[in-house]
Amino acid sequence: MIEENVKKLLETIPKANPFGEKVTLVAAVKLQSPEDINRAICGGITDIGDNHVQEFKDKYELIERNPTRHFIGHLQTNKVKYLIGKVELYHSLDRYALAEELSKRGEKAGVVSSVLLQINIGEEESKSGFQLGMANEAYAKIKAMPALKIKGLMAMLPDIDDQAELKRLALLMREKFEELRKNDGDLQYLSMGMSGDWRLCIDCGSNMIRLGTAIFGARNYAKQ
Ligand SMILES: *Cc1c(COP(=O)(O)O)cnc(C)c1O
Repeated sequence: MIEENVKKLLETIPKANPFGEKVTLVAAVKLQSPEDINRAICGGITDIGDNHVQEFKDKYELIERNPTRHFIGHLQTNKVKYLIGKVELYHSLDRYALAEELSKRGEKAGVVSSVLLQINIGEEESKSGFQLGMANEAYAKIKAMPALKIKGLMAMLPDIDDQAELKRLALLMREKFEELRKNDGDLQYLSMGMSGDWRLCIDCGSNMIRLGTAIFGARNYAKQ
């Protein structure tokens, strides 16, 4: 079932967004067993993204075929030390304290970490991230930190049905991405799109989507 889901998704997801950029699929693996994650990888998943450091550590050695590792969840500063050097891209750089810790730990370890600035595009209480209006300032401050490389922006759209509003927000993200990228060739990724909204996000210019439910089915929170 999981392998089938992945194969179908890989056939369905456009190879490129309307800007001609390759679209990367990251499997959101929170609460999934190593077996199921390995099934997804067998189906063609090349990139996996974790939310929880404990899960990341517990499963790290059990994941086969060496997929590219992303961290997509809210990250506590006191857990950064467990991830340094093991994560290809941090999607959820959502505050200065985290940026400072990642840079400090990276400097010590001789590791430059690639990060996306998380923008709270819906200005939701329940979500973290910089406000869109603070994006330029956050970009400038974090750009100056020695052991970090900003590779783009990340956002989670609100869980609403209003397609026009979702599109408006997604296009605001693309606009900000374009603006910052004009002067910075390192900016490559706009990570936006989950199981419920990935089509709209790609249409609006996302080039990296993070899918959990569409690959693994509904998450079983009771199992935890
Ligand atoms: C869980 C999660 C996803 C995937 O959500 P689905 O709706 O299951 O596709 C994507 N991004 C983040 C940050 C997540 O925590």
